[in-house]
Amino acid sequence: MTSTDRPVFRFAPSPNGELHLGHAYSALINHAMARANNGRFLLRLEDIDRERCTKAFERQVLDDLVFLGIEWDEEPRRQSDHFADYAAALESLAAEELVYPAFMTRGEIRSFAERYREENGHDWPRDPDGAPLYPGFDRKVSTAARERKMAAGERFAWRLDMEKAIEFVPALHWQESGEGPSGETGDIRANPMQWGDVVLGRMDIPTSYHLSVVVDDALQGVSDVVRGRDLFFSTSVHRLLQSLLGLPSPRYHHHDLILGSDGRKLSKSAQDTSLRALREAGMKREDIVRMVGLREVLSEVF
Ligand code: GLU
Repeated sequence: MTSTDRPVFRFAPSPNGELHLGHAYSALINHAMARANNGRFLLRLEDIDRERCTKAFERQVLDDLVFLGIEWDEEPRRQSDHFADYAAALESLAAEELVYPAFMTRGEIRSFAERYREENGHDWPRDPDGAPLYPGFDRKVSTAARERKMAAGERFAWRLDMEKAIEFVPALHWQESGEGPSGETGDIRANPMQWGDVVLGRMDIPTSYHLSVVVDDALQGVSDVVRGRDLFFSTSVHRLLQSLLGLPSPRYHHHDLILGSDGRKLSKSAQDTSLRALREAGMKREDIVRMVGLREVLSEVF
């Protein structure tokens, strides 16, 4: 909570493509919950990926939100302006020897998992997003060998030593007022182990989605995280990082996802449900509100 004790909500899109109906739904629900609870509504631009995020997409995000009648209460926080905050958090974890440089690329991890399957007849474990877990080979590499590789310019990512990290913290929980994919609600026990040694930073960017989201939620005094159900399992990693970094935990509300006519999650590359396309086709704010079924949802939330 902030010093004024007004709840703080946030909408945190990545300006790496056009917003679609799913984003509109998330932004509208956040905004409505903030206003109904005499809370503040903040906008955060999650633009740490300097290759995919552009100023043009950022301008479009702002235009789309204005079109939706959404007003934010502070200057938007742009993550790329705050790399020093994330670097400090990463450094504090490095000081506890909870992160290590990992040199295996995503492609190498995938090949490893395929080989494992061929040799063992069953799957190598996967994280909740379906990616094979990092096998942890670089965890035990000697400091001298690490330094040699880093000095030679080999690409690496900073990964959390998950087993070690878990020993540092008590059992973690969060309060869920929405629902997970199997109807999980109320007091939820975090299970960060299922993600393995997650990436917390890269060679050229001192952060990752997981790290910057927890640092920013704390720095912005966010009391209520309202976001799509696709991020439900990530909350386990976020609770762990909050605990390791001594940051408070917000309340969480994971809302349902707007699905396309094929029953799949909307994606930024599917042009037909982009807010720009819908606006150009003459849709008004009220049409979007009706399309995402916002009224029905809000009557359930309140
Ligand atoms: N930037 C994330 C996204 O666009 C959302 C982060 C969050 O709400 O925690 O999916």
